Amino acid sequence: MKTFDVAIAGAGLIGSSITLELSRAGLRVGLFDKQEPGKEASWASAGILSPAPENPGMIATVPLAKASMALYPEFIAMVEELSGQTTGYRAKGTLEVITSRHAREELSTIIALHHGLGLQAQPLSAVDARELEPSLREDVEAAVLRPAEASVDNRLLTKAILASAQKSGAEIFAGAKVDSIWTEGDACRGLLVCGEQISAAHTVIAAGCFSAQIRGVEHYAPVRPAKGQMISLVCTEAKIERVLWGDEVYLVPRDNGQILAGATVEYAGFDKTLTAGGQKKLLSAAIDLVPAFENARIEETWAGLRPDSPDHLPILGPTDLSGLVIATGHFRSGVLLTPITAKLVGEFITLGNVGMDWEPFSPTRFAQAQKQSHARAN
Ligand SMILES: Cc1cc2nc3c(=O)[nH]c(=O)nc-3n(C[C@H](O)[C@H](O)[C@H](O)COP(=O)(O)OP(=O)(O)OC[C@H]3O[C@@H](n4cnc5c(N)ncnc54)[C@H](O)[C@@H]3O)c2cc1C
Repeated sequence: MKTFDVAIAGAGLIGSSITLELSRAGLRVGLFDKQEPGKEASWASAGILSPAPENPGMIATVPLAKASMALYPEFIAMVEELSGQTTGYRAKGTLEVITSRHAREELSTIIALHHGLGLQAQPLSAVDARELEPSLREDVEAAVLRPAEASVDNRLLTKAILASAQKSGAEIFAGAKVDSIWTEGDACRGLLVCGEQISAAHTVIAAGCFSAQIRGVEHYAPVRPAKGQMISLVCTEAKIERVLWGDEVYLVPRDNGQILAGATVEYAGFDKTLTAGGQKKLLSAAIDLVPAFENARIEETWAGLRPDSPDHLPILGPTDLSGLVIATGHFRSGVLLTPITAKLVGEFITLGNVGMDWEPFSPTRFAQAQKQSHARAN
């Protein structure tokens, strides 16, 4: 029987970064993925690093997001040094473009919201915005510059983290499907992988939107897939320096000259089909924001499945089964939240406590909510 200090299910950004953190701490870690590691959401993502909440429901994640953003430069430096690989990290800020006739009101609301949450945001006139990003459409009304935001090439980052983890002593198993957790009484003893028992003092479930398919984990990680379609463009006539946010699309420049346009959010089960409607929506919004894209070459199209939880918040922390930790449900922010997730899970496993309040993300909250609603009904 294989025995590890820590057994981890799922080798996306979350599972592989936790593996790296714990291997560097000197623990013997086994990382299991049902296919080639790093080929799900972490491959499909846009890699934007933005702690700003997309809606009021996401405000609870802002402290976590800010902490992760602060860790990013050091995290990238460590991973690039260990792996000897680049990650396409671009700390150039992001620009939210405003085209509505009520630009002045919109601008002050956005700035107040950001400042209220302790996030940097600067109002820009249309002239200043087009000076920063000359390829933007001419009738921009105003813009908001978020100078502390960034982006990273998530595909390169995932590869580099996996290489760093391996160099740090982790054992990575591809084509190793985790069927269930292995429990004895109220303790988790490890994993069942392709029928084989894997023994571990600590078990971490980080299987993204597939986590609920692992037997024994359903109640802690009731995640579902949220499909996102993407397009990559190459356009010599357009020069984009930083991430641009439009109303219906975001554009993400890569170091290799490609510009990603994303993304749809669709609840269509475990289905990665590209649809005419989804692609049309992205292309017309991208051309609307940067008219030169009319002549852009379509380099690649793809879709991926984000791990979404019932309240759209991450699912992070220990369960009521001793030895079992969950790290999933990162929805639209998993790339951003990678360093803090690895740090917190690492602290919990090595020290038994964590440096910030992660109770709002507890995996036991869904079972508790269910019990409370049953009690009310009776
Ligand atoms: C189109 C799109 C755009 C996005 N844009 C951004 C963005 O700009 N910024 C941002 O921060 N986030 C973004 N995200 C979200 C981000 O990509 C995810 O939150 C993050 O990648 C989740 O990482 P993960 O490791 O939890 O999951 P995944 O990357 O999905 O990894 C899960 C892994 O578990 C494996 N697995 C599944 N089941 C099993 C099993 N039974 N046994 C063994 N292995 C298993 C899978 O093969 C996979 O490798 C985007 C996502 C998408 C789809």
